[in-house]
Amino acid sequence: MKDCVFCRIVGGEIPAKRVFEDDATVAFRDANPVAPAHALVIPRAHIATLDEVQDSDRELLGRLLLSARAVAAELGLSSTGYRLVINTHAGAGQSVFHVHVHVLGGRPLGWPPG
Ligand code: AMP
Repeated sequence: MKDCVFCRIVGGEIPAKRVFEDDATVAFRDANPVAPAHALVIPRAHIATLDEVQDSDRELLGRLLLSARAVAAELGLSSTGYRLVINTHAGAGQSVFHVHVHVLGGRPLGWPPG
């Protein structure tokens, strides 16, 4: 989608520090990290929110999780622990409307989240 910042990262029009990519997903460092390790995993295809994901995207959802796990390993979080977050809709903090998985780690992560 032309005016989507994450589509433009996928297309290489906006620079990003990529940490992982495959044929279905791209992962890059968050520009405003809230933890020492903070990356985003996105589908190459534009889907606005988790609520727009279709039953036919079932495999893609699995691919996003497997990519997130690979990103966590790449960032050295496999033994210390990490958290995956999908903010869905503005009320939950979603600010970029291209579905994405936050991979967070590198510090103690409190529960419940804020
Ligand atoms: P959310 O608030 O869950 O929609 O998360 C969107 C995330 O995208 C935020 O953590 C932003 O810091 C991050 N972000 C926005 N624009 C960029 C960008 N150009 N490169 C990297 N991260 C970005």
